[in-house]
Amino acid sequence: MNIIKTVGDMKTWSRAIRESGKTLGLVPTMGYLHEGHLSLARKSINTCDHTVVSIFVNPKQFEPNEDLDTYPRDLEADRRELERLGVDALFLPTEEEMYPEGFQTYVNIEGMTDHLCGKSRPGFFRGVTTVVLKLFHIVQPHSAFFGEKDRQQLEVIRQMVRDLNLDVEIVGLPIVREADGLAMSSRNRYLGKEERETAQSLNRALKQAQQWIAEGESSVEKIRSGMRTLIEREGRAQVDYISVCDPKRFVELKEIRGQAVVALAVQVGKARLIDNCLIERI
Ligand code: AMP
Repeated sequence: MNIIKTVGDMKTWSRAIRESGKTLGLVPTMGYLHEGHLSLARKSINTCDHTVVSIFVNPKQFEPNEDLDTYPRDLEADRRELERLGVDALFLPTEEEMYPEGFQTYVNIEGMTDHLCGKSRPGFFRGVTTVVLKLFHIVQPHSAFFGEKDRQQLEVIRQMVRDLNLDVEIVGLPIVREADGLAMSSRNRYLGKEERETAQSLNRALKQAQQWIAEGESSVEKIRSGMRTLIEREGRAQVDYISVCDPKRFVELKEIRGQAVVALAVQVGKARLIDNCLIERI
């Protein structure tokens, strides 16, 4: 596996692949890889001739009071996993490489970023779209792979690709979960034993919401408050948001008809956890 640290080297490597007529897949990550990340890399390996995984803990998507400095890292373990999988290149830019002195250009998607995570973390999506657009320009992949775990992020990136006429296919893949239902996340590492049990309430609440909806409940207000009660029963959990929203624009719904996303963000100890599911009322 090639380990590439500069923008120049990454451009040279990917240009050679494109010029040889082969397809290139990109999997952007912040590292501390788990099965969720690896499922994206596997999909890229299975569908593209060559795969690049990037690891970059992007400072521009963290708020000043967030966990940038303590975000978990284990580059050696990540490198071993990617090598074992058969990834062709690992792109590991430094902060100076991505944001050199004087950097001042940002990508801002409006509207859909006013809700959910965009509301709680005001600079988050601006940081994400800026770094992802840079990665798309540097690597110029044919396809890029993202997880539905970050469903709003996935749709924001799809919107950016449409709005800016980018030639990259965006592939969204299902949430990979631990055996107990907790969505895999690098931040799960922050959870102590009891917090880990509390964290299971996110997935439990989503499943309960799905059941209520299947049984005919269409009032979003009732679903949200029922979910909140389930989660707050676990003393250690602090709800940031619970949303039942439109799956593309992320605007809150009043009634469920057709497709909807149920999404939530909950602080458990030091970990801010998110989870979601897509539901359909026929
Ligand atoms: P991150 O390193 O957290 O920025 O995530 C990198 C990519 O992996 C994003 O596209 C995430 O949506 C995806 N991802 C993270 N956790 C999971 C998961 N449990 N299942 C599927 N994809 C995931």
